Amino acid sequence: MKKYDYVIVGSGLTGSTIARVLAESFNKKVLLIEKRNEIGGNVYDEYNNKGILVQKYGVHVFHTDNEKVFNFLSRFTEWNDYCITCLAHIQGKKTDVPFNFRCIDTFYSQKDAETLKKDLLESFPGVDRVPVIELINSNKNNISSYGRFLFENDYRPYTSKQWGRKPEDIDISILNRVKVALSYDNRYFSNKYQSMPKQGFTKMVEKMVDHPNIDIRLKTDVNKLISFDGDLVRLKGISFDRIIYTGALDRLFNYEQGPLPYRTLVFKYKSFNKEKQLDAPFEVMPMHPRLTRKTEFKSITGQVKKDWTTVVYEYPREYDYQQNKLDPYYPIISDSNISLFTKYKERAERFKNLTLCGRLADYKYYDMDNSVARAFEVVETLEGKIS
Ligand code: FAD
Repeated sequence: MKKYDYVIVGSGLTGSTIARVLAESFNKKVLLIEKRNEIGGNVYDEYNNKGILVQKYGVHVFHTDNEKVFNFLSRFTEWNDYCITCLAHIQGKKTDVPFNFRCIDTFYSQKDAETLKKDLLESFPGVDRVPVIELINSNKNNISSYGRFLFENDYRPYTSKQWGRKPEDIDISILNRVKVALSYDNRYFSNKYQSMPKQGFTKMVEKMVDHPNIDIRLKTDVNKLISFDGDLVRLKGISFDRIIYTGALDRLFNYEQGPLPYRTLVFKYKSFNKEKQLDAPFEVMPMHPRLTRKTEFKSITGQVKKDWTTVVYEYPREYDYQQNKLDPYYPIISDSNISLFTKYKERAERFKNLTLCGRLADYKYYDMDNSVARAFEVVETLEGKIS
């Protein structure tokens, strides 16, 4: 039986990064196990029957300020730069997201708009973008009422629908993710690098795991091979020193302490026999009863194709672990959920050959760049500095 230094469970960006770095920088023999019939995890993309590159597990747009992460990924792909814009449908009008001065011009009289813009610049000198809560808490009436207008027409309905909870019950970091711009800047992200892999994320991940020290086993659910033996994790028929698990922690332990709550999304894809369908790459629908967002893939991937375009429509749901069709996407951060996660984590820490890493195993929302950075961190903890 071949002996591996590491078994890595999950071929998402986390598992694939760890596999590559261990194989290349530390000459470790790695077995990468994936339960799906495809690699890439959440970032998996493929061409649909109209020849459009679409993403199967949610819209993914790469953006980062992390030089090390960008340089690492750039070894496996060339990039298309993009500039994502987003429109929100509010009171029958479309307005920029991040909300900016154009939004003020759209919803206020010219005189009130000029005063509000001037007051905003005076109240937040030198600041580009402000959380909506800070606007609401302003002691200037017009600023506070602008904040409340945005909150009631977008943040409250959108967030409640996305999370299935009242905004008051949602972690504040979520409300702060999309700030209000104090200018006409309509860039959705403000990071240094805003690029998409030229041939898609799947091709990028395929290159990453293409290394003589890495073996890959698809369509293999580790949960069916795993056993817990004293302080060791074992896998039937596989010999290894350490296992790095990037899947869901509650599932690893068969939900013995109860399921960890997640939100998920249902995607509906629609292709149109035309070059372009939406007015912006993203259109958000805060007031719609079920739909949150529409995305036109070609606008984010940079694919040029005149005859067809594909749009994906997102409908948020509560994740139900007993219903196998959907995937757990967004951990629902609350004190009780973190305490449940901690119980699972403490259980995992009893096994001396088990390491956890990734958005599911850490029960944390990581953007792609954070996932790669976290993968570096875990390898450095296990093996020392990456050269
Ligand atoms: P995953 O990609 O989920 O990979 C885990 C892998 O493990 C999966 O392939 C799974 O099948 C496999 N696995 C699990 N359990 C087992 C098992 N028992 N046996 C074998 N295999 C197993 N980030 C951005 O920067 N920009 C975005 O626009 C963006 N959009 C997102 C949209 C959505 C809907 C979601 C949920 C996330 C988004 N992210 C985005 C975050 C991004 O998806 C993550 O940072 C990244 O994909 C995390 O990779 P991962 O490897 O940790 O997890």
